[in-house]
Amino acid sequence: MISCNLFHKNEKIYNNFIIKHNKIKAKKFAFIPFENRIVFVPHCMRNIDNCTAVEKSGYYVCSECFNCKISKISILAKELNYKSLYILKGGSIINKIINEQKPTGIVGVACLFEGYNAFKMLKNTDIAIQFIPLSKGGCFNTDVNFVELEKILRNIV
Ligand code: SF4
Repeated sequence: MISCNLFHKNEKIYNNFIIKHNKIKAKKFAFIPFENRIVFVPHCMRNIDNCTAVEKSGYYVCSECFNCKISKISILAKELNYKSLYILKGGSIINKIINEQKPTGIVGVACLFEGYNAFKMLKNTDIAIQFIPLSKGGCFNTDVNFVELEKILRNIV
């Protein structure tokens, strides 16, 4: 079992890594047209009791039922003309989606550990990522700060 101290130490490492890499990619990301960007959010943000999202292999497509915050994110992404939004079941589908959609920018929402892994996984690509960690973690009913996410989606820095 991972000790509390080790957990907090790793959390700090992941957080610092993400802050650093968000800064490195921020300028490039800002110049990427919205239509070349995709959004990844985690399935743990769904309201699992009432979610009407369409299940696909490796991800869900939000039907904007307003039972969780993903509705607002999906509507905003469409309004801004983002290429697409995926509710990921896990990180293993990311490469497949990227190969199919060929985005040049990604906005990612996830826990610190998943964000850290995603940056590492895509470090040798030209894709500009901006990552925002969950404001409330866990396995279900997780949350993100919508105001902060909206700034990233809209290029308000
Ligand atoms: S808004 Fe989307 S993700 Fe959230 S519960 Fe409804 S269909 Fe599911």
